[in-house]
Amino acid sequence: ETFKRIEKTEDQVKAYLCLQKETAMEQAIKIDEKRARGEKTGALAGVPLAVKDNICTEGIPTTCASKMLENFIPPYNATVVQKIYEADGIMIGKTNLDEFAMGSSTESSVFQTTRNPWDLDRVPGGSSGGSAAAVAAETVPLALGSDTGGSIRQPAAFCGVVGIKPSYGLVSRYGLIAFASSLDQIGPMTKNVEDCAIALDVIAGFDQKDSTSRKIDLAGSYTEGLHQSLKGVKVALPVEYQQEGLDKEINKVLENTVRELTSLGAVVEKVSLPHSSVGLSAYYMISSAEASSNLARFDGIRYGHRTDRMENIEDLMVYSRSEGFGQEVKRRIMLGTYALSSGYYDAYYQKAQKIRCKIREQYSRIFEKYDAVLGPVSPYLPFRQGEKMDDPLAMYLGDVYTVDVNMSGLPAISLPGGFTEAGLPVGMQLIGNHFEEKRLFQIAYQLE
Ligand code: GLN
Repeated sequence: ETFKRIEKTEDQVKAYLCLQKETAMEQAIKIDEKRARGEKTGALAGVPLAVKDNICTEGIPTTCASKMLENFIPPYNATVVQKIYEADGIMIGKTNLDEFAMGSSTESSVFQTTRNPWDLDRVPGGSSGGSAAAVAAETVPLALGSDTGGSIRQPAAFCGVVGIKPSYGLVSRYGLIAFASSLDQIGPMTKNVEDCAIALDVIAGFDQKDSTSRKIDLAGSYTEGLHQSLKGVKVALPVEYQQEGLDKEINKVLENTVRELTSLGAVVEKVSLPHSSVGLSAYYMISSAEASSNLARFDGIRYGHRTDRMENIEDLMVYSRSEGFGQEVKRRIMLGTYALSSGYYDAYYQKAQKIRCKIREQYSRIFEKYDAVLGPVSPYLPFRQGEKMDDPLAMYLGDVYTVDVNMSGLPAISLPGGFTEAGLPVGMQLIGNHFEEKRLFQIAYQLE
């Protein structure tokens, strides 16, 4: 059934980089046999799902949508993939992304351009655009994405689906090909809030293979409390989020969401986040600095693309990297290397780290009084294919509402908030305190 649905839409949407019909069938048969034997099956028993192609899958290509890893077949599974198999989920394919997860439109994939199922002329967002489009086109009810600065939440918003960026340390990043290690998190993207909570139950938890994984008491399921009333729940609405730059139709949906929350018994109050204007610059410094270091491993020797043009070891590295990486990845490596270079380190990287601390403190203060922060996900609606490809800065500016969350390690959920007059989906964002995912699911579920 799943593959039939994919056949119908995939020609136009192009969400998948590879499909795994055979292994999926084998898995499905195994689960049927388990059932026939009367054995207990897992929380995802028989659920077809897709995985972003920067998450390692044993024996199945994992390309990061880059020429660099075009032929890379990991010898191991990421912890999240392992957990999905243990929960009897059926992995049916790997989804498209911006090259190495750098971007906001999935257009920097070197293999194909994914389209937004709501309007095929528009982008699905990014970098987890393939996962968002796969769920929106109803080919799978669940797809995994990764979020370094908004890459789960923004495509979820553009495609009218639910996506959560969990607290830093909640989900193991073992087997996620690193972009910016202090910011990266894996999370589920689904059609509705309940499915999202179920999926997070499966993938969350301590993993000794990830040194940033936190030992948190995960007693109970994220689905508990979904039905609880919002009476007395306090939600903050930062005034800075509604200043210039925010699309009028998105602001309208935001205002509607405030009204809905109030009618559900929540208290919504305006607050100020004065440092939010500088978060974006700090994010691009820090994420690029970390990327330049993480991507140093692709040297043409150990992994990935190796050039034919080599006379000596230096040529081998230079040409392998020049040929293997695309433009956006090179831009980030250059920016990051510059920011970390001696003489410039204090002026750029260190300054960005100081801003990061301020932003973190700013949120801590808000969470002393409030349960969640409400805001938009993106300042603009899904844009047309190609519209921002020649203007990287315009693309970066779209991340203004999402990056501070990663820099603070906080959880945030993106959920469908409504539609524009032209019928494009608009997402809303709820940000919670560290490891308070349950609260986010509760509010999101009540808004659904
Ligand atoms: N759009 C942001 C960037 O390009 C976020 C990417 C991400 O979260 N992976 O860096």
